[in-house]
Amino acid sequence: MSQCSKCKTHICRTGDTVHIPDNCPMQHDYPDTLNFYASPDTLKMSRAAALVESTGYCRWTRVEEVMEFSRRIGVTRLGIGFCDGMLRGAKVLSNILEANGFEVFSDLSKEGEVPIGCDPVGQAISLNKDRTGLNIVFGMCVGHDSLFIKHSEAPVTCLVASDHLLGHNPVAAIYSAEDDLSEAPYREGKTHGKSVMPASDELVIPQESFRDPGIHKVALAAAQVREESGGRLTRLGETMKLAERMKVKNIGLIFCVGLRHEARTLTEILEANGYQVFSAACKTGGVPKEDIGILDSEKVHPGTREPMCNPIVQAILLNRSGTELNILLGQCVGHDSLSIKHLEGWVTCLVTKDRALAHNPMGAIYGAKGYFHRALYQNHKQ
Ligand code: SF4
Repeated sequence: MSQCSKCKTHICRTGDTVHIPDNCPMQHDYPDTLNFYASPDTLKMSRAAALVESTGYCRWTRVEEVMEFSRRIGVTRLGIGFCDGMLRGAKVLSNILEANGFEVFSDLSKEGEVPIGCDPVGQAISLNKDRTGLNIVFGMCVGHDSLFIKHSEAPVTCLVASDHLLGHNPVAAIYSAEDDLSEAPYREGKTHGKSVMPASDELVIPQESFRDPGIHKVALAAAQVREESGGRLTRLGETMKLAERMKVKNIGLIFCVGLRHEARTLTEILEANGYQVFSAACKTGGVPKEDIGILDSEKVHPGTREPMCNPIVQAILLNRSGTELNILLGQCVGHDSLSIKHLEGWVTCLVTKDRALAHNPMGAIYGAKGYFHRALYQNHKQ
């Protein structure tokens, strides 16, 4: 059982696979990492994600990283999945992507039609018909992102995890848990059996979801959470509420070692709210980047021993733990796509990493008419 968020050393990030802790998943029956990256498409995505990270490290916003990742994997047709509360932001994103030469598909592009907004299943099916090469989750509600991810045929990457209480900066709930707001995140999910659950016939549930009971359960839970929260819960609170409504006990946490402190705090919060948490860090395996064809000069820190991110094995470790709902915390663009593709349980994104904007990628959308105008609307150059 993998519990990397409780690891005291995270030594895999140094490439040391000898001095690993006793409870490290690398101790026993560890998956043969390179086998999972052998196919040309997977290798291309993995290499592209690594090169985007190192090339724009701490300089590019997540929006810029998504565009560069798309170029490097040869994708020109991008889909946007969004919820109705994020309509304006989705339009700005669409404009940015088009200004940079991409063909963009979304509800926004269906001229003359009313945007279907919170129909994540319908949005994914529509993008499948449009044969998009990469789908971007932009501000979807908790659970709606899970449904969108499940139905997308194209790889999916997360750009913005909406949080209407925290200015679409969900990581703030984790940071605040460590200081004077410490009570809130530890309490806000603790409403088991106390809150008023809206009747299912009062909720808007995607019609497509009625065909499959498993899908319908998540669609109903997501609609209930949206109704109950009404913008009064943080994304973290909504995520715990979704788990409660789905009757989930085991939560998976896939995280970037750059956010290992946040992962530990998040684990404590989830456990305080009654969930069992299994977790996998991105550097698990400690496999050198050279093994997937990354040159020393292409590393984040050339001249050092730098392990590759291992999103597929992260997913496999959580699958082995039987996690029913998996939370993404701070994965790179493209690495999230690979984890999403291999996770067997449901997936929701809590935090999208943006090193240039304090992990608040929405800042690029808000700033698109001002400070960031040139960077985002002119064809992005390395
Ligand atoms: S894989 Fe890395 S983070 Fe996970 S327990 Fe082992 S050393 Fe620690």
